[in-house]
Amino acid sequence: TSFEQLGLSEDILKGVMSMNFRKPSKVQERTLPLLLMNPPQNLIGQSQSGTGKTAAFVLDILHRIDLSSEQMQKTPQALVLAPSRELARQIQGVVKVMGSFVPGLIVEAAVPQDAAARSRKIEASVIVGTPGTTMDMIRKRSMDVRQLKVLVLDEADNMLDQQGLGDQCIRVKSMLPKSIQIILFSATFPDQVIKYAQNFAPGANQMTL
Ligand code: AMP
Repeated sequence: TSFEQLGLSEDILKGVMSMNFRKPSKVQERTLPLLLMNPPQNLIGQSQSGTGKTAAFVLDILHRIDLSSEQMQKTPQALVLAPSRELARQIQGVVKVMGSFVPGLIVEAAVPQDAAARSRKIEASVIVGTPGTTMDMIRKRSMDVRQLKVLVLDEADNMLDQQGLGDQCIRVKSMLPKSIQIILFSATFPDQVIKYAQNFAPGANQMTL
């Protein structure tokens, strides 16, 4: 498979090429046909870091968001949750680079140090956040979640395993549209975590990558 065969737009392919990705990694080759399917499918993907999972969910996000009006560009349509602000920042960077040829894309982080400073509504098409800050922002109505179509949990084992973070992820999800596509990625899914994961992403396809 090539990236061209996946049905991604020219603008997205330009971003892929600018990163010098010649062909999809094994993880991308297996997950992208499923992720890009209509109607959207949920995924629980087990894969080590370094295998290209970030690009897989970022490409799905870029493919699904609607940036055709200024209003939509400022409306959150995809939310990625990560267990630390460092990882959230890193993912935000990947979305920006892969999406650098996608007109109108706005990517923001919802991490602790920004949240305190933020009094206005977050105006972005894609938000990458930590669970606690994201939960607070939704509660304070500084994040409009009504148009969200994709929810990703990166390092899902880390989050669903921990009491605090797991609860926050579950609370966040309970405030989102019910039809949202849910993608969980993790290096491991121990027995006690896989049950939470299956509950969190009902009907998800499970892939060991
Ligand atoms: P990740 O598994 O998301 O942590 O990504 C691992 C590394 O692989 C990152 O540095 C990516 O830039 C790189 N990468 C991801 N997909 C590809 C690809 N299709 N071809 C070459 N490198 C890639």
